Amino acid sequence: MKNVDGVKYRMTKQKRVILEVLKNTKSHPTADWVYDKVRKKIPNISLGTVYRNLNILKNQGEILELSYGKGFSRFDGNASKHYHFTCEHCGRILDIETPEFIEMEQEIARQMGVKVARHRLEFYGSCPDCTTD
Ligand code: ZN
Ligand code: MN
Repeated sequence: MKNVDGVKYRMTKQKRVILEVLKNTKSHPTADWVYDKVRKKIPNISLGTVYRNLNILKNQGEILELSYGKGFSRFDGNASKHYHFTCEHCGRILDIETPEFIEMEQEIARQMGVKVARHRLEFYGSCPDCTTD
């Protein structure tokens, strides 16, 4: 198992169930939503435990945390590099699969002589369900 922060982690049952819940949805849910789902399988789990394990899974590179400001994190079981489209009407977050954007880091590094560690790129608008014309 890879560790982004150099700490060694065990795969506990709690962590496995949380990861399973996230892998089985494309909805980019909140921690509260994950907690509701996980509780159906582990009834005595606490919200704090869910938060702690989400953080560990993020540090392990198993999931992504999408930060939309304080208290607005959404979680993604797809940890591969991809972008997101947020519908400003219904709040839905859709995946964008555009591998060509990934090359931007290399291009910027080449042009500017910098070393790019990461970047953020967010798209906003109306999803198909919210678009009427
Ligand atoms: Zn929408
Ligand atoms: Mn995603």
